[in-house]
Amino acid sequence: MTAYDMPSHHLMSLPGWATDPAARAVIAALSIPGFDPRFVGGCVRNALLGRDAADVDIATPLRPEAVMTALRNAGLGFIPTGLEHGTVTARSGGKSFEVTTLRVDVETDGRHAVVEFTADWRADAARRDFTMNALSAEPDGAVHDYFGGVADAREGRVRFVGDPAQRIAEDALRILRFFRFHAHYGQGDPDPAALSACAAAAGGLDRLSGERVRAELLKLLAAPDPVPVWQVMADAGIARHVLGEDGDIARLQGLVRVAPGADPVLRLAALLRGDVAPVAARLKLSNEERDRLAGLRADAMADAPDEAGVRLLLYRHGRGGARDRIRLAWAAAPKRRSFKRALAAAEKEPVPTLPVRGRDIVALGLSGPAVGRALAEVERWWIGQGLRPGRAESLGRLRELAGA
Ligand code: ATP
Ligand code: MG
Repeated sequence: MTAYDMPSHHLMSLPGWATDPAARAVIAALSIPGFDPRFVGGCVRNALLGRDAADVDIATPLRPEAVMTALRNAGLGFIPTGLEHGTVTARSGGKSFEVTTLRVDVETDGRHAVVEFTADWRADAARRDFTMNALSAEPDGAVHDYFGGVADAREGRVRFVGDPAQRIAEDALRILRFFRFHAHYGQGDPDPAALSACAAAAGGLDRLSGERVRAELLKLLAAPDPVPVWQVMADAGIARHVLGEDGDIARLQGLVRVAPGADPVLRLAALLRGDVAPVAARLKLSNEERDRLAGLRADAMADAPDEAGVRLLLYRHGRGGARDRIRLAWAAAPKRRSFKRALAAAEKEPVPTLPVRGRDIVALGLSGPAVGRALAEVERWWIGQGLRPGRAESLGRLRELAGA
């Protein structure tokens, strides 16, 4: 027996999600003597670190069919999300819980795995990516740590379970996950052995599906400060396999500084130097995300907008769109105070609306294409006036335009 066959024992204090009746109902349904379920993965890691859990995952030695039967017998709903990988989504108290049968990956090709179910908790932990992600906890909080993950989590070491090169050969997404977890949980420099294995296998990222890369990239970019990790990825020749380029790291850094809470898509806009279309296609971005990126790119501003400029941004793009555009421009010049003023104005100015409408023009006797032309013309005039004229003045202008 190696030291690791004897799991070290930690007791975690149960966070709210673990005592929540919705989770307890799933645990109770699955608690069959000899087949007791545990909490696994990120929720256990985060509980030990005093952080919130994104989702609560449960593992069980029960086969998926038995899981479904147990849930049904307890009166709980479920969705057979991925039976071939052993995953059933339990529904309890309006919430979802992923219940996954203990498994080992028997065949891997760098992208997918063929799995085999097992009753061995340690084997299930061994197929997971990082030691801090390989923890499991009994419903009373007793943590099973087969690979030193508790200490690694507490000390900010993102470390592969087993040999990094081999684990990356099984699934190249783990390269990106390594940096994602380092950005969120790492302290100091990334593990050198893992880093060189990631660099050596970076080409494997090219063969991954866009959806998988997208999810990890956006989570990486959502870290409090993704810049140091991205810099390492660029230096190691990995960034270009994700984005097609190293990216504008200085601008990303500027954005983190001027707008710490910016969302990952805005951060991506800051990072991207090249065209949006190939990146959107590669990452399978939604049409909405793609259009947002393209719009941000098209409207790049060198200088902070003045008051009228802010009103125009608000008019054209709404409050969120105006805020994004000012933040992005500011990111390229974080020392310029004028952007701060513009951003403050964009937060408090009312969103302007053109004070006249098509029916005002119809009322003046115009019809057909002339209506649209007059509207476009009065809008141009109104914008030229700093988006200030009110309804009476705008109607007056319309009458002039209509020759009335
Ligand atoms: P988050 O809080 O961001 O959701 P998480 O740890 O729950 O973090 P997930 O991506 O949701 O991360 O994955 C859940 C668990 O499944 C991980 O903790 C890990 O044990 C395992 N896992 C997920 N993807 C992989 C992978 N590609 N290779 C190995 N193990 C993985
Ligand atoms: Mg998760």
